[in-house]
Amino acid sequence: MATIHGKDLAVAPPFRRLLGAEIVTAPDVDTDSLGTFSGEIARPAPIVETCALKAELAFRTMDVDCAIASEGSYGPIDRLPFRPSGVEIMAFVDRRRGLRIIETLATHRTNWRLFSFAAGDPDVRAAATALGFPEYGVFVIANKDRSRQIKGLASLDEVVAAVDREANRSEDGTAILIADMRAHRNPTRMKVLRALSWKLAKRLQRLCPKCGVPGFGHIESRRGLPCEDCSAPTHWIDFEIDGCSVCGHAAARPRKDGRRTASRLSCRGCSTAHAS
Ligand SMILES: [Zn+2]
Ligand SMILES: [Zn+2]
Repeated sequence: MATIHGKDLAVAPPFRRLLGAEIVTAPDVDTDSLGTFSGEIARPAPIVETCALKAELAFRTMDVDCAIASEGSYGPIDRLPFRPSGVEIMAFVDRRRGLRIIETLATHRTNWRLFSFAAGDPDVRAAATALGFPEYGVFVIANKDRSRQIKGLASLDEVVAAVDREANRSEDGTAILIADMRAHRNPTRMKVLRALSWKLAKRLQRLCPKCGVPGFGHIESRRGLPCEDCSAPTHWIDFEIDGCSVCGHAAARPRKDGRRTASRLSCRGCSTAHAS
């Protein structure tokens, strides 16, 4: 696993328990060269691709067939700007079998927040405490110069001093205080990574019925479950498709809840008829 932030602690238990696999961290892998959470280095590719590239970094320094990496993205969501959320992505690459499995987990479980302060603002301590500091890490950034992130702050006094200094250094006189999302400094993120690791290990447990390669699982949801009244297709999921990323074998699977029809309220024809 390519990580410098202790993510192997989240991944190791399910991989050992479900797959009998040992996780080792790849030496000399600087995953920060692909970009970091705080945005200091531009990412070379969209997040899923970055994640697979990060896993493949392990092949540069280790003679192994399989590698894992994870990426996360957190922030406000458009509809609900005060309800931050995030998505975690985990990539598993098996270069011998030509296998690439990506699992994702969307979550509202996060302490991600962003505050901006002028120098001397009395609320800095309370904001840092609200972010979970010092158990959780925080970063301080000059608002008009985001190239430098102040990390590794150890006390509230250091946080206040960093906010004052960075605010004074910023053209607009404000500094940003933001949650540190690196896994080893963020216990909530570590929990989400643990859940995603179980999901990935469970997927790898399933072998393709055709070629026997690991990772047979969900690739697509087909919409169009028929309306209970008129049988017209609705936007509800009709069935799921499981697939193999190596041989292309795919199989349809009915909905888990056993529903064969959708509510008339979800039907464009029937719900419009009701309203008129
Ligand atoms: Zn297959
Ligand atoms: Zn209908």
